[in-house]
Amino acid sequence: MIIFNILKIKKGVDRLKRAVFLDRDGVINEVLTKRVKFVNEPNQFYFLPGAEEAIKSLNDHFDYVFVVTNQGGIGLGYMKEKQLQKVHDHMVAELKKKGATIHEVAYCPHKPKAGCECRKPNSKMILDLGEKYKIDLKKSYMVGDTDTDIQAGKKAGTKAVYIGDSDPLADAVFPNLKEAAQWIIRDLHNDNKKLK
Ligand SMILES: [Mg+2]
Ligand SMILES: [Zn+2]
Repeated sequence: MIIFNILKIKKGVDRLKRAVFLDRDGVINEVLTKRVKFVNEPNQFYFLPGAEEAIKSLNDHFDYVFVVTNQGGIGLGYMKEKQLQKVHDHMVAELKKKGATIHEVAYCPHKPKAGCECRKPNSKMILDLGEKYKIDLKKSYMVGDTDTDIQAGKKAGTKAVYIGDSDPLADAVFPNLKEAAQWIIRDLHNDNKKLK
């Protein structure tokens, strides 16, 4: 039994997994643009340029890619949970066509002022996925376009990449997910080198 366990460790079976957590609106898809206000239906879901390829490249270097999204519109009654599910099924299916995988979509359906643990800047969505999939959060990344995304990542112990102009807490800032993904992959490999 002891020998078996040593073999398991040597083969890396017990290695904690690495993940990238992505905010949805403004990172993967358009929101508050000319052609779309909020995304309540699949036909309002427009991928931002390069987002699909960026997720595919992250799949090549990480065990998991997740979406963690605040959807307070449900709590406020603007959208039904079933509709949100349709939007997410559409997103995942369209990505699959491009060879990109989202392993799970977590969302907070509560009202913005409900004071729940899951709505970002709180970190429960990230922590729960971390536990479920045995993620090494210190070697994982949160990407978002609001300061609350960055705060949620930092609270959970991930590195955090901001999509936009500037953020005081972020480890890096880029204008889009494509460039963020390139940096994340470089940063991951730099960290791996340091360990050797
Ligand atoms: Mg966003
Ligand atoms: Zn919540």
